Amino acid sequence: MTKILACGKVFTGETNKVFSRGAVAVQDNEIIDIDVDSQNPGEELKKKYPEAEYYDLSGHTVLPGLIDSHIHLDLHGMADTFDENFVEDKLRSIRASRAMEDTLFSGFTTVRNCGSVNWIDISVKEAVRRGIINGPRILTSGKILSITSPGSEYFYGLYREADGYDGFKLAAREQLKMGADLLKLMATGAIMNPGGVPGATQPDEKEIKAIVREAKKLNKKVAAHAHGAEGIKNAVRAGVDTIEHGTFADNESHELMVEYGVYLVPTLAPDYFMSKHGKEGGVASFIVDKLKKKREARLEALDRAIETGVKIACGSDAGTPYNYHENNAQELKVLVSEGLLSPGEAIRSATQYSAEACGLLDELGTISQEKKADIIAVDGDPTENIDVLTDKDNIRFVMKDGEIVKDQRSGKHSSISSQSA
Ligand SMILES: [Zn+2]
Repeated sequence: MTKILACGKVFTGETNKVFSRGAVAVQDNEIIDIDVDSQNPGEELKKKYPEAEYYDLSGHTVLPGLIDSHIHLDLHGMADTFDENFVEDKLRSIRASRAMEDTLFSGFTTVRNCGSVNWIDISVKEAVRRGIINGPRILTSGKILSITSPGSEYFYGLYREADGYDGFKLAAREQLKMGADLLKLMATGAIMNPGGVPGATQPDEKEIKAIVREAKKLNKKVAAHAHGAEGIKNAVRAGVDTIEHGTFADNESHELMVEYGVYLVPTLAPDYFMSKHGKEGGVASFIVDKLKKKREARLEALDRAIETGVKIACGSDAGTPYNYHENNAQELKVLVSEGLLSPGEAIRSATQYSAEACGLLDELGTISQEKKADIIAVDGDPTENIDVLTDKDNIRFVMKDGEIVKDQRSGKHSSISSQSA
């Protein structure tokens, strides 16, 4: 089945350019043609594909489906999200399913899960694949690989603790056996962990290498949680693909990241939400206290990272307290409002750059011929006002893998049938 999307403005994600009009032809799940040059691109593609279904998106800006490179699909975003015990495991799965529907309808057609309680991410991905629930394309990590460390019991079922080269080798293989698409490790302590010292290194370089070697055998990526500079450098030298957070990165760590082509996923949204709601909102006081100390450091390090040429991918850390799964685009808003990226670059961090960071650039991340048809249409122009993306109601049309999963076009363009050729 061929579909023609006649667009208003078009942001393909390949550059920062916004085309004033365009049209895209989709066959099955693939983009087969794009016209951003003709006077009337929709009509031109209609002539080329006379049998195609025709969708009028001319009142909207069209862009690639958004990609969030760092979420926790089974954390639910409430202040007590870490307090649940095993009794809640089944509820977690149900909530995670709901969260994935919300994420998809917010315009995020791909997410990379960076740590899941008891492999819930793998079940939820399967539920999406079988069509039991609506959801984005999900890259799964299974449990987070961590050294034996204080405070890890706070995250019931989230960590797989291991030590030594052979210990990490086994722990990595376990996640891969369960069906993980990537491996996630703790290269330093954490903020959202009562025993965590964010600046402190955890596994040494050799231990991280054990994880990387197992992942690379199966052509999978490795994401390293790392706040402190030494932990970042250990992870980069060991061969990881992305650094998550990067809070206390020094210049040497940024230079190493550029040299190794490692992406930084800064995850600014949780700071924003947890600082906003604070202890009064029930966020654990040890988290709020640690956040206060490092918020400025993180923004300052990120500014230097961008200056040094470190590649930035968007990751919201959705699921952490008050960071609900339909608010993934808040990350883009913070990147722009803190003066770190232009709206166009911020959107590319959630399209082209996230696709590259996740190893999906051949098939996703831009509106380009032969890529998978993940396309959204929104009210307004997010390159002029990034806030457009933070309100789910502005996301009018979502196509994932060539299938229309949301169609709430406004006004006279609302009917699909009346627009059919
Ligand atoms: Zn995280």
